[in-house]
Amino acid sequence: MTGRTHDLAAFTALGFIALTHPLPNITLATGIVAVVANLIGGIAPDIDQPTAPLWRNLPVGGTVGRVFDRLLGGHRFLSHSILGVILFGFGWHYFLKVLTPSFPHLDMTIIWWSFMIGFVSHLIMDTITREGVPWLLPIPVKFGIPPTKAFRVETDGFVEKFVVFPLLFLVNGYLYFLHYGAILNLLHHQIK
Ligand SMILES: [Zn+2]
Repeated sequence: MTGRTHDLAAFTALGFIALTHPLPNITLATGIVAVVANLIGGIAPDIDQPTAPLWRNLPVGGTVGRVFDRLLGGHRFLSHSILGVILFGFGWHYFLKVLTPSFPHLDMTIIWWSFMIGFVSHLIMDTITREGVPWLLPIPVKFGIPPTKAFRVETDGFVEKFVVFPLLFLVNGYLYFLHYGAILNLLHHQIK
């Protein structure tokens, strides 16, 4: 999947979870940082691909990307597995903990979850692509849905652009239509 599709999927997953679970009151700053963290989480697993949009958009991205590629084992490796989710979860938690004293208005729990929701949504989306996802690393088997590769989505191909991406858009629209009251409540009462 391309970065664009991953970001939309991450945002969709965040919207779904935020609208179907009771949320604590948050500051506007928390809301904004949470959405940004979610979008970063949505593309973060591609840190192990030197050709990923994440690296292409940075000035020295190619070189840095290749270093990470070596460290993490190449295309769809450690950061595309349950072990990767756990390691990134701990790392992200520690990072936010260090920042907490400097940003008293941010609810780091919400921000942690937002990033992780984006991260996991990435792995789920990659599972429907031809390449599959090595969920159970270090067991070196890539899983995909459906199991037959030929029926899966080609990255940046026709189905991703004209079916998956528009479908995610529709899901967002439907989600907001369905939970309109909860959105108004969030905007009027829960964001301070
Ligand atoms: Zn990926």
